[in-house]
Amino acid sequence: MKKGIYPGSFDPVTYGHIDVIRRSAALVDELIVGVLSNSGKTPMFTVEEREEMLREVTKGLPNVTVRSFSGLTVDFAREMDANVLIRGLRAIPDFEYELNMAQTNHIIAPEIETVFLMTSLKYSYLSSTTVKEVASYDADISTFVPPYVEEKIRKKFSKKEEKE
Ligand code: ADP
Repeated sequence: MKKGIYPGSFDPVTYGHIDVIRRSAALVDELIVGVLSNSGKTPMFTVEEREEMLREVTKGLPNVTVRSFSGLTVDFAREMDANVLIRGLRAIPDFEYELNMAQTNHIIAPEIETVFLMTSLKYSYLSSTTVKEVASYDADISTFVPPYVEEKIRKKFSKKEEKE
């Protein structure tokens, strides 16, 4: 049985992530999307909010579950009994970072194989950071995220404005 984890910040989930989730869910028997809660970045959404959005947008995929985790990704993989670690690759800067992470993880946990999925051409530019940036100027983000996520982002920004 092939069990995979797909870890990330997902702040918030984009169509780029969903594409990787769909494609990797077809490669493994079970896929666990892991939402990292101890990232160095200050997130826009809480872990619970990020998990909830991911659950909503993956509810049509029966072999996908969503969990949060903190600490080392390989520890989470071991805890989940997963043997495959999925990551997405967009461009050269991703490659440099991911190669380093994959090699480090291989030394710590040789039984876990990192598998990279190349981004689909139409999502190669897409990142959570871009989405937040565009949304902050009140521009259209409907090609970047599903309507459910778009609504959550809008609410976040309107709350921010209320405070200011
Ligand atoms: P992290 O903070 O771990 O980079 P992200 O949520 O930004 O988390 O991304 C999680 C994973 O998804 C990473 O492997 C990243 O390269 C990949 N990813 C993000 N956006 C895309 C995209 N548009 N196409 C393919 N992979 C992507």
